[in-house]
Amino acid sequence: MTFQEEFTYETRPVRVVFRPGAAVTATPDEAARLGLRRMLVVCGSRGESVARTVADALGDRCAGLHPEARMHVPVEDADRAVAAVRAAGADGCVAVGGGSAIGLGKAIALRTGLPLIAVPSTYSGSEMTPVWGLTEHGAKRTGRDPVVQPRSVVYDPRLTLSLPLSLTVTSGINALAHAVEALYAPDVSPLVSVMAEEGVRAMTEALPRLAADPEDLDARGRALYAAWLCGACLGTTTMGLHHKLCHVLGGTYGLPHAETHTVVLPHALAHNAPAAPQALTVLSRALGGTDDVPRALWELAGRLGAPRSLAELGLAEADVAPAAARAAGEPYANPREVTAEGVRGVLLAAYEGGPPEHAEGSTPQRS
Ligand code: NAD
Repeated sequence: MTFQEEFTYETRPVRVVFRPGAAVTATPDEAARLGLRRMLVVCGSRGESVARTVADALGDRCAGLHPEARMHVPVEDADRAVAAVRAAGADGCVAVGGGSAIGLGKAIALRTGLPLIAVPSTYSGSEMTPVWGLTEHGAKRTGRDPVVQPRSVVYDPRLTLSLPLSLTVTSGINALAHAVEALYAPDVSPLVSVMAEEGVRAMTEALPRLAADPEDLDARGRALYAAWLCGACLGTTTMGLHHKLCHVLGGTYGLPHAETHTVVLPHALAHNAPAAPQALTVLSRALGGTDDVPRALWELAGRLGAPRSLAELGLAEADVAPAAARAAGEPYANPREVTAEGVRGVLLAAYEGGPPEHAEGSTPQRS
């Protein structure tokens, strides 16, 4: 962005603790700092063993383990979790896991006002945002409320060692999507731009290293650092067409979150590129100087073995038009005007999974 434009930057206090190999011991310290004495630990079924070690480390400060987090936080799951919190007499929660576990912790915070500590094990970045989501009757609602923003975030790259390579890659690209849309958001600011550029650079360096050696702890740490930066971008800006599309595909059509972001991103960016020249310049720099950023992202996903089409993820071709109509039907910020036809074009390209179109006027400016 240039300094002839206005900007506002707002962020909320959050303590970030990066402690390789020591999330289990860092979490009780964070609970103590916040004065919390009875924490309910929430996680998904796959993350239960790690969450149990965190619960054990909390000792007397642990009021129970609730291993029921699922993708997109169905409202009945939130109801059950709130009941568990009340039954346990908890004064706070610890969410251990990916965006789904953190999402359930946020739903509890939204309903009860209780503080949340997040111990992330994916690169979704939810831990850095005041955004909550709940799914009811086949539709996902999201909102922003400072009460759901975790008070403390404990990053430990060791917790991500068990993340399968496929999810490592797609979750990493999910993080890139936050940085991409932050760069053309109406509330982008110079600090967001710096975080987005560094986040994209760090994540796109880390992912190929992890594809070569998923146990490379330095690359795991770099990817978590990138997830932090990209999540912070998401937390302070307004997302556009790409996030809207993924939200509809996940909430209404049940598509998996990170994989959907991975498939849609190059096509949504190719569509928006002619209207977002400054974002493209920053992204090009972060990616080592490419002239075609959407194509570079599509090639990166392919090289890393990620899915490339919504058809592969299980979307039916007949769902493309209604999903597009739904995504186009609600107003939201986007650098390019959102039209039903434009959105359908993006979705169809993502459904088919070929290389994104290089539109006129979408070559990054050299600065
Ligand atoms: P997830 O939390 O659903 O995790 C995906 C799968 O990986 C699950 O089966 C989980 O148990 C497993 N898993 C997680 N960490 C693991 C690990 N270290 N080792 C082995 N398995 C592991 O997926 P996600 O992509 O992290 O999060 C997606 C959800 O988060 C969606 O509902 C999305 O809407 C939400 N989200 C919210 C925000 C926000 O700001 N509110 C931001 C990003 C994502």
